[in-house]
Amino acid sequence: MLIYNTLIKKKEEFKPINPPNVTMYSCGPTVYNYFHLGNARTFIMSDIIRRYLEYKGYKVKYVQNITDIDDKIIKKANEENTTTEKIACKYTSAFLEDIEKMNVKVATVYPKATEHITEMIDLIKKLEIKGVAYNVKGNVFYDVFKFPGYGKLSGKKIEELESGARVEINEEKKNPLDFSLWKKAKKGEPYWESPWGKGRPGWHIECSAMSLKHLGKTIDIHAGGNDLIFPHHENEIAQSEMANEKPFVNYWIHFGFLNIRKEKMSKSLGNFFTAREIFSKYPYGIIRLFFSQSHYRGPLDYDDTLLSSVEKGLEKITNLIDELKKQIEKSDQNGIVPDFNLSDYRKAFETAMDDDFNTPQAVAVIFDFVRDVNKVLSSDTNIAKSFFQDAIKYLKDTTQNVLGIINLEQGEKVENIDLLNDLINVLILIRQKAKEEKLYAFADEIRDRLNEIGVILQDGRDGTDYKIKKKN
Ligand code: AMP
Ligand code: ZN
Repeated sequence: MLIYNTLIKKKEEFKPINPPNVTMYSCGPTVYNYFHLGNARTFIMSDIIRRYLEYKGYKVKYVQNITDIDDKIIKKANEENTTTEKIACKYTSAFLEDIEKMNVKVATVYPKATEHITEMIDLIKKLEIKGVAYNVKGNVFYDVFKFPGYGKLSGKKIEELESGARVEINEEKKNPLDFSLWKKAKKGEPYWESPWGKGRPGWHIECSAMSLKHLGKTIDIHAGGNDLIFPHHENEIAQSEMANEKPFVNYWIHFGFLNIRKEKMSKSLGNFFTAREIFSKYPYGIIRLFFSQSHYRGPLDYDDTLLSSVEKGLEKITNLIDELKKQIEKSDQNGIVPDFNLSDYRKAFETAMDDDFNTPQAVAVIFDFVRDVNKVLSSDTNIAKSFFQDAIKYLKDTTQNVLGIINLEQGEKVENIDLLNDLINVLILIRQKAKEEKLYAFADEIRDRLNEIGVILQDGRDGTDYKIKKKN
């Protein structure tokens, strides 16, 4: 499997440090607002990469941080006359709700910056001992000239970075590119005690400390949007490699921007839609398929007029699934097995995904599959059940498990609930009969056994009803 690694600017074979385990860190949100569709693209494509690694049999430990202390959160709290904790708490819950709506798999851990202050302080102390951090009246900075590899991720020399850099101006810094490790608390700001006085951590040290704690010194994959390459990820490398004396990340993956009329969707430009707005208008399958139809590294222009054709494409897949489910009910194993090489389509899907997660190519393979299976369905009769079962398994593995655009179990769950109701009613009827036969101990046993599994029978004048105890 090939992955394009930003560090070497080419594709290379993926070799995890400790297979089948894979460690993956994906930069998460700063929780001061609802996140926008551009962030959603990054979160979804990162999720698809994780899902494909799992499809390949890897056990992925997936960590996504939550930046819950930051200038923007402080600003928002001041504007709304509330605390940073309240703002962070509100938007962390919103983030978790939104990614669930987007059908993003839950991360192994969502570490919060404010819960790792001790680890961050320890890391800064280490950097001080190594002589790369300097303290100016309670503000601690990283001296980028002391790290020989500075610029290796962006592929630029320090001098080049300086000229085009959008870095914080601060007269206390020795060099404009030096960045904050610890920020002295200003009046009214939240703070933590530290060896340098009251203050709070800089943004970059958060990710170095949290990935170290949850994934170790060297991790397999680190992902984020293109805008994070410099300075965020460059600075993470400088901190982690200096402190740990080990390579920080083996594969750096970066996502292209979601644009609106060729301009990056961003909070500061104001040209954004929140993800919750879009995901309440369209099912997640449409948006995820729309994203999957372009390569994760390239830019993608959002245009909702394109979504109707994506919807039609998705319908082709769901229609086929419905048809296959019906045929599974109707058919048996004695029918004919059509001349159809399903493994070719699986191989083609994997070839596409193995080539740096080429989802547009993988989606094209799925549509070829849908077209060709439909052809078989319209030309052959008396097809063996196994054909339909295999076809549905293929769609489950690819469209559900990897791309996350459909959920085969959705309809089934409703059917299961009906079945559950019917089963309980059958037991109620048997208990009623037992009572009529004066088999009271047996009737009570039915009631008690159901009670144990959370089904509470309620005898009333019009017969017996039941309710299901909610699990905590
Ligand atoms: P933020 O909350 O701004 O730190 O962003 C969270 C993630 O979304 C980061 O990985 C960003 O690089 C990414 N991101 C921000 N804007 C866009 C965009 N327009 N398109 C794709 N990814 C983005
Ligand atoms: Zn980060």
